[in-house]
Amino acid sequence: MQEFDTIGKPKMVNPELYTGSTVLFESFSDMKKAQRGKYEGIAYGTDRLPNQRGFEEALCTLEGGSVTRAFQSGINAIENILFCFTRTGDHVLICENVYGPTAAFCKKILAKFGVNFDFYPGNCGAEIDNYIKPETCLIFMESPGSNTFEIQDIPSITEVAQQHDIITVLDNTWATPVFLKPFDLGVDVTIQSVTKYISGHSDVLLGTATANSRYGEPLAKFYRAMELFASPQDCYLALRGLQTLDIRLRQHQQSALEIARWLLKRPEVDLVLHPALESHPQHAIWKRDFSGSSGIFSFSFHQEPDDDEIESFVDSLDMFGLGFSWGGFKSLVTAGRYQRQHSPEIHNKMLVRLNIGLEDVNSLKEDLDKGFAAMKLLTK
Ligand SMILES: *Cc1c(COP(=O)(O)O)cnc(C)c1O
Repeated sequence: MQEFDTIGKPKMVNPELYTGSTVLFESFSDMKKAQRGKYEGIAYGTDRLPNQRGFEEALCTLEGGSVTRAFQSGINAIENILFCFTRTGDHVLICENVYGPTAAFCKKILAKFGVNFDFYPGNCGAEIDNYIKPETCLIFMESPGSNTFEIQDIPSITEVAQQHDIITVLDNTWATPVFLKPFDLGVDVTIQSVTKYISGHSDVLLGTATANSRYGEPLAKFYRAMELFASPQDCYLALRGLQTLDIRLRQHQQSALEIARWLLKRPEVDLVLHPALESHPQHAIWKRDFSGSSGIFSFSFHQEPDDDEIESFVDSLDMFGLGFSWGGFKSLVTAGRYQRQHSPEIHNKMLVRLNIGLEDVNSLKEDLDKGFAAMKLLTK
């Protein structure tokens, strides 16, 4: 150690990585302050170490919020926000096209604490009023929604919510703060699955919640009382991801749009569920509120494929990995049917979801060509 001390610390472009549990105090007086919760500095490993604080601050600035806190995953951020802002007897509203585990958490865990929930349509606007009960305390939005990509009219929902003094939360993972500024649309708390575009390389699990000035303090107090924290290494990678977020998103946007338009022209394809396409039912709302589109969307078939056909389509792809999550450099594919009571044109239809990565677009099209050809071989 002596040897290093004489060399001095190099000044690196990137921040130093701080990990661990124990932080040493300068004096017993400081330690006593920490014991009373009055210490100004960082007192312990769960006290948000410098890499976490640096990432939270950078994201908070980008979001235009008041307080950001990092969580060990996107779903962990969502679960904690639902705990933070509800109590027994409350009712919450969740969009029908919400990320599956968010709905599962409400059904399996929140309900145990006497907090009930109902779904509202994924393309909802001011009609949200019809779903509000006297005990509704929180409206959870995700726009565009997972897998089916309906768009909610966020400013109309937040306006109604404000009239009832209901807190609004938006899962903004698809657009990121680069393409949507939720606080300008009246949202109170935003969620990011940092796992997706912000970290951007499929090597991190991390989430954030960012609150406006009204809800910043309750969020910070809840986080403190729960002794929550995020991994310093993951915060380091997330901060690094932020440096290239804008430029990566622009490439994802361009490549995904090119493939979406190409799919629209294919004879096999019926609907391409991409909000930036003129054919998307809520395209006008997307255009009004968003400044760009990212790299994930779905499509359906004119002729509903049977299990063997969809299997041959997916299994014949080489460039599209068969895996969950998205937002990274590698293109991925999933396929499934989703319950959408309020969107009959896609309810229970087979949808293929593509995460368009950063590979060459023409090679991705050739790969999809192979999928369609393999499916055709099986079609009677
Ligand atoms: C993936 C995802 C999440 C959960 O993120 P994890 O970091 O994987 O827990 C939440 N919301 C949306 C919209 C997602 O796509």
